[in-house]
Amino acid sequence: MLRTVQKGVPVNDQLQLLIALQKVDTTILAAIRQVEVLPARLGNHESAFRNAESECSRAERVLADSAEKKRGKEREISEAKDRSAKLKARTSEIKKSTEYQANLAEVERAEAGVSNLEAALALILADAETARQTVAAQKARIEQEQSALVIVRQEIAAEAASKNDEIKRLKSERKKIVQQLESEVNNQYMNLMRMHRGVAVTEAKDAVCQGCNLHIPPQLYVEIKSGYAIETCPECRRILYHIRLEGNGLSAVSVVSEPTAAD
Ligand SMILES: [Zn+2]
Repeated sequence: MLRTVQKGVPVNDQLQLLIALQKVDTTILAAIRQVEVLPARLGNHESAFRNAESECSRAERVLADSAEKKRGKEREISEAKDRSAKLKARTSEIKKSTEYQANLAEVERAEAGVSNLEAALALILADAETARQTVAAQKARIEQEQSALVIVRQEIAAEAASKNDEIKRLKSERKKIVQQLESEVNNQYMNLMRMHRGVAVTEAKDAVCQGCNLHIPPQLYVEIKSGYAIETCPECRRILYHIRLEGNGLSAVSVVSEPTAAD
């Protein structure tokens, strides 16, 4: 038979308070972690923005270099063409056949030289075009990332403000709970919080400590289930509680006692 304990009236109010305190602290810690990771979200956009900027300036340098190269190559082509034209002009004045042959060969070489220079110029122009396209694309990306940064900064600020409000509210909730805790119990809780990185109170589920997975000895489990006193795990020292099935499913922490072997 179930012990009839008025719902909401804990058998051990200190245990009940500890469970509530752990719940609040877990929520506070999660909210703090969420605030802590917010700037990282900004970091991703900032690095995308910086990448776009450096890609853009690299392409701009390539573009400037190719303009310089283009001018140089055009000068070379014009000089080579002049040379070729002069050689051709000389052809009609040459009378000796050997000299004529030699001049023809020189004209051919000069013309080949012009072709080579023109091919080199075409490559420079193609590189310049690629660089121009890169600059345009990266400028668009910079603009995009800049707008994204503005939006993300606003989102982060709003989210941080809302989380900080939540933390503030939870801290005042926490304060009210701590005020009702016996100082010795509070000390025990705080020591466990430090020792176990934020988890001092945990569930004993199916006779297993959910903090360290220790299989709880039967007699201790019976006591935990009764909820009469603050019981701790023999292994990790965490404070243990038991959730019992109520009606259609899991609910309220079982400080409302169940029939046990002790009854
Ligand atoms: Zn344990």
